[in-house]
Amino acid sequence: MNVKTTFNIAVLPGDGIGLEITEPCIELLKKASEVIGGFKLHFELLDAGAAYYQKTGVSLPDESLAKAKAADAILLAAMGLPSIRYPDGTEISPQLELREKLCLYAGVRPIKTMPGLTPVLADPRAKNLDIVLIRESTEGLFAARGNGVIENDQVAKDTMTITRPICERLFDFGFRFAQRRKQNGHPGNLTCVDKANVIGGFAFFRKIFDERAKAFPEVLASHAYVDAVGLNLVKQPWNFDVLVTENMFGDILSDVGAGLLGGMGLAPSADIGDDHAVFQPCHGTAPDIAGQGKANPTAMFLSAAMMLDWLGDRHHSESCLVAAKTLTGAIESVYLDGCLPFELGGNDGTDLIAKAVKKAIKAPVNAVMA
Ligand code: ATP
Repeated sequence: MNVKTTFNIAVLPGDGIGLEITEPCIELLKKASEVIGGFKLHFELLDAGAAYYQKTGVSLPDESLAKAKAADAILLAAMGLPSIRYPDGTEISPQLELREKLCLYAGVRPIKTMPGLTPVLADPRAKNLDIVLIRESTEGLFAARGNGVIENDQVAKDTMTITRPICERLFDFGFRFAQRRKQNGHPGNLTCVDKANVIGGFAFFRKIFDERAKAFPEVLASHAYVDAVGLNLVKQPWNFDVLVTENMFGDILSDVGAGLLGGMGLAPSADIGDDHAVFQPCHGTAPDIAGQGKANPTAMFLSAAMMLDWLGDRHHSESCLVAAKTLTGAIESVYLDGCLPFELGGNDGTDLIAKAVKKAIKAPVNAVMA
């Protein structure tokens, strides 16, 4: 088997704190590839975002989209600024355009507590949360974006779109994801989160989930209503393993998940399709702290580790898989050593955290490289 060893990474720094967390992240990825060996990363920085829109009237230039499409993976920091908007009043969000244009239907949002940090919930079982939320990322209620109507300033109508082809791919992705987790010692259960008791589109969503479940008998499939999941993510999150849901529900529940971790700066994500993937922290551009060196870069770093894992899995590169684990381990070791970012009430800023993680990246003993 031919193992790919050189990967082109399209990088979109975006706006606000996105600009501050990009460079240190590239530095870490370079160090991980040097220390582990066996693969090389080439980075190309691309224009897109709210500031670029203000300058040019375009939020995602064709050239950036073409280069992102041609790359092996896309690393995106954060985009959008509340003060810069499209004529309809919505925020500039090329990240949503990328999800739609590259058909990145599976938004993977890990909710994994960071060792060394005081858990948000007092129950001892909340210390080691390890849940994954898979958010459909191309349709659902977000499909109404730019298409809603307001009638005579009296009635607003936005339409949710749920399609069979995307649901089938999403659920198959979810079942395969749960299977892979099971092989790594997790329960490997998949829960479909919907509102099938009220909205017909969600009954359809659930029906397709049940159909696809038959092809994965080894995964325990279940359903839950979104309101109950909201409650139980706060009351007993340790009972969840992998959750799969519609776009808007996923948007909301992933922020609940980030809250369970302690803050937005700790929540990574990946938006994955059949041919492309974007890796991006869950947070936005945080204009309230931009330019102060206070942004927590951890979610960006963890997203970069997810990128290495995805590249390793997709291209059968053991080196990339080892680098993903090494980077994650380095981040965790920094927190075990007492790192406390500003957002959690500490004094550790972007630079200090980045330097500490870089220092902690070390070759694992007995690593097998391909
Ligand atoms: P978007 O809608 O674009 O996702 P948002 O409205 O959810 O953005 P964020 O930009 O994510 O807003 O910010 C929400 C809050 O979390 C802000 O108070 C912000 O300062 C804080 N925050 C977000 N990301 C970080 C980070 N990396 N480090 C520290 N604080 C952060």
